Amino acid sequence: MHRVIVVGRGLIGSAAGRHLAGLTDGVVLMGPDEPTSRAAQTSAFASHYDEGRMTRIVDPDPVWSLTAKWSIERYDEIEAESGISFFTPSGYLGIGGMGSEYLERSRAIGVTLGAETEWLDPAGIRERFPFLKVGEDIRGLSETGRAGHLSPRAMVRAQNEAARKRGASIVAEEAVAIRPVSSGVEVETACGTIHRTERVLIAAGAFTGACGLVAADLKLRVFGRTVVLARIEGDLADELATMPTMGHAESGAYILPPIRYPDGHLYLKIGIGSTGDADLRTREDFTTWYTGAGSEGNRHSFRSFLTDLIPGLARCTHWHTDTCAVAWTPSGYPYIDWVDDGRIAVAVGGNGKGAKSADDWGWLAARLVVGEPWDHPVDRDLLRLPTIA
Ligand SMILES: Cc1cc2nc3c(=O)[nH]c(=O)nc-3n(C[C@H](O)[C@H](O)[C@H](O)COP(=O)(O)OP(=O)(O)OC[C@H]3O[C@@H](n4cnc5c(N)ncnc54)[C@H](O)[C@@H]3O)c2cc1C
Repeated sequence: MHRVIVVGRGLIGSAAGRHLAGLTDGVVLMGPDEPTSRAAQTSAFASHYDEGRMTRIVDPDPVWSLTAKWSIERYDEIEAESGISFFTPSGYLGIGGMGSEYLERSRAIGVTLGAETEWLDPAGIRERFPFLKVGEDIRGLSETGRAGHLSPRAMVRAQNEAARKRGASIVAEEAVAIRPVSSGVEVETACGTIHRTERVLIAAGAFTGACGLVAADLKLRVFGRTVVLARIEGDLADELATMPTMGHAESGAYILPPIRYPDGHLYLKIGIGSTGDADLRTREDFTTWYTGAGSEGNRHSFRSFLTDLIPGLARCTHWHTDTCAVAWTPSGYPYIDWVDDGRIAVAVGGNGKGAKSADDWGWLAARLVVGEPWDHPVDRDLLRLPTIA
């Protein structure tokens, strides 16, 4: 009999696994490894099969800002414990119109938490980042210090390895059923093995609804997202060497600087979310979305947005798209709460920015599951499930 099985070895689940393994014995982290071929994928889908996620303290929401800060403060510990590095402190630059409330709020909140920020006028932006083309009506919010990007794949590997070193077991299988029984909970895997445990934490990300492990309607909205990647070669790599992660306040575009991918090439990535994106509900929806090429319209518009902002990218000869999914909750925060009477809990709902704060969400989920005091400035009620009919 295990103490806790965490279903989902993604950014939040694997963080919870490491923290849990520091609080109790009998921890199992359960979930499939990344498939070798996306085109043939049928197993559970994930939002972390990539090399770049932005991470920074500045955010217009104090809850996200604080949880990001506390997560970032633990990156060194996770890297040291696992021996796997995942974080690059490239800095962050938010750009927007002169009166951008998004940037104003982001800075105001970030500063209260110690973020190292600076306003840049258009000339200052061009001086520091000569590859950017910005108009006179734009200003920039720069965060240095510990802002930058993480490799979600490497972070998941690091959290899993650190959890293993703390005594957790890894079961690289998909869970297909979770059944409360009189002595605890049974978790059945895709190959038919039944694991018995006292408690379960479900952290299956955007796939939580489609995999059917939670009987209740969590009111998650899941959007398929398209990202566009430009291969960076030759002199362009040197020109962009100081590029920070970037966000554009008005459009919501986020841009990752050139990052090396497993094929050995550097890619610069852009994504822009919209509520018009594909609405994913069923396993079939996920399979179609993840094995497809994404939105053709996004491919054209994102590329054009990027080359307007970074004209040097017009020299790129290889562009491609990738697909991913994000899970939104009505509150804009993850759910970290019990689904039933103290045996099955959830930690889901990254709301498109769950990577940067994942370690802190995992910390909270771990403490909830073992009955430790909440002991966190984020109000517990903000992370509760909606009233379930
Ligand atoms: C294109 C894109 C760009 C993004 N950029 C950023 C960014 O720059 N910064 C940022 O902070 N966030 C970003 N995000 C969001 C971030 O990636 C997610 O919020 C984060 O991955 C959520 O973590 P999670 O653990 O909830 O889900 P995931 O990381 O998806 O992990 C869920 C895990 O559950 C597993 N699973 C699912 N079903 C089962 C099952 N039945 N049994 C066992 N395991 C199961 C999956 O295999 C997966 O490993 C981005 C997301 C997308 C899609």
